[in-house]
Amino acid sequence: MTVQAVMAELPAIDWITDPALVRQRSRDFFWYSPVLKRQLNGVTAEAVACPRDEAEVIAIMAACVKHQVPLTPRGAGTGNYGQAMPLKGGIVLDLMGLNRVIWTKPGMVRAQAGIKLIDLDAITRREVRGELRFHPSTKRTASLGGFIAGGSAGIGSCTYGKLREPGNILGLRVVTMEATPRVLELRGADIDKANHAYGTNGVITEVEMPLAPAWDWVDVLSEFPDTISAARFCEALVASDGIAKKMAGVVAPGVAQRYFKPFMQMVTPGKAAALVMVAEPFLDLLAPLLDRFGGRQLYVVPTEQAETPLYEFTWNHTTLQALKVDRGLTYLQTLFPTPHHFDLIAKMDATFGDEVMQHLEFVRLNGVVTCFGLQLVRFTTEERLAEIIRIHEDAGALIFNPHAFTLEEGGMKRIDSEQLDFKRVADPHGLLNPGKMIAWDDPDWTPERPQSFYLYGQADAP
Ligand code: FAD
Repeated sequence: MTVQAVMAELPAIDWITDPALVRQRSRDFFWYSPVLKRQLNGVTAEAVACPRDEAEVIAIMAACVKHQVPLTPRGAGTGNYGQAMPLKGGIVLDLMGLNRVIWTKPGMVRAQAGIKLIDLDAITRREVRGELRFHPSTKRTASLGGFIAGGSAGIGSCTYGKLREPGNILGLRVVTMEATPRVLELRGADIDKANHAYGTNGVITEVEMPLAPAWDWVDVLSEFPDTISAARFCEALVASDGIAKKMAGVVAPGVAQRYFKPFMQMVTPGKAAALVMVAEPFLDLLAPLLDRFGGRQLYVVPTEQAETPLYEFTWNHTTLQALKVDRGLTYLQTLFPTPHHFDLIAKMDATFGDEVMQHLEFVRLNGVVTCFGLQLVRFTTEERLAEIIRIHEDAGALIFNPHAFTLEEGGMKRIDSEQLDFKRVADPHGLLNPGKMIAWDDPDWTPERPQSFYLYGQADAP
């Protein structure tokens, strides 16, 4: 493999070769996980390519196939599991230069993959009074293509579910990694071939998304006697179909007081907190819900006017806020299945106490209101972390392991044969983001044979 040969063939491309800058753009937020930190810290590409348009993307991909050089797509690098980290070196393809909106229509937008979500939001609000149905809490930094390829849900998922729910993505334009790359338009059910595939089976250059009405949102922070009361409040809010809302999250007693700097003094010691966003005309309807669950409103600020928007204390920003105060923490990603989700949460709280601090985000999945846990964990050893995960799974929770860098282990712990089949067609040499799709290297893989979480034991990079 020779990165130099690719670069020599494409002198007009904007290349980054300074080793410190290349290393910087070879990393993401993998360090949230002490396991991934140990495994991936040394990972780096040899060069970063910064295309300005799709024609340059195609030229880079063709040259990489010709010289058999691995290529790892990257947006803003805010992923959490080493998703955009080039395990096999080669070239990182930085897509942030593809940042134009192609068109807007009422209820729809088509844009290039590298556009920042915050810029996209400003344009769709201005042009068609619409906004993405939901966005990650990294809205201010992340790219649209990175959200599709690496993200899953976020602020707005309490109304619209996850990216995987049919209808939440309308179209993807994907370039294949072949000697002569093809440009494919995936629509309808075909979207799932490249949706949340970590860029292992095509490079997304354009994305078409449905839009929701752009309300004037208001951040509301409230406190409750305990986690379950706050959770019941959020569940009731999310189930209130008439109220336009965008976020409903809960943190256990102690979390806001210890880790949320602006709110530390505001939340009474021993109380749980609920963080919600509702549309301004519906604000008055929160009072009866708060009364019903023993809540008290502490803070009400229009999202646009907040110094730091409340959503930057939710989803995976909760973990970031906590890590700013205590680097000894890490986290889990859990789905608590209905109808016994609150019993399960209470059971886990009783089992782990302060070692696993509850953090819940309420979502509506296929019409059913439930919650994800992104619990904060006091890290001691990798063995104990594995045990905490096992205890959750044995009790009936679904863990989306954030301490694994492969698609399968971070997801449903099964091979996605549709994505594997698409990779066989769209990346027949296995050069795109290699090492992330277990099925490519081992089509008969089962979860009984762990790869990234345990396989490397005490070794360093894979
Ligand atoms: P990157 O990290 O650059 O890439 C993510 C993955 O997509 C990589 O595998 C990369 O190879 C691939 N990729 C990127 N662009 C393309 C492309 N054009 N074509 C093909 N593949 C591509 N995620 C959520 O879903 N919800 C949240 O609420 C959320 N909150 C977060 C909070 C914090 C503090 C942090 C650190 C992360 C959070 N994340 C969340 C994860 C991440 O921020 C989002 O998924 C984000 O949308 C990723 O976008 P990015 O541009 O940074 O992608």
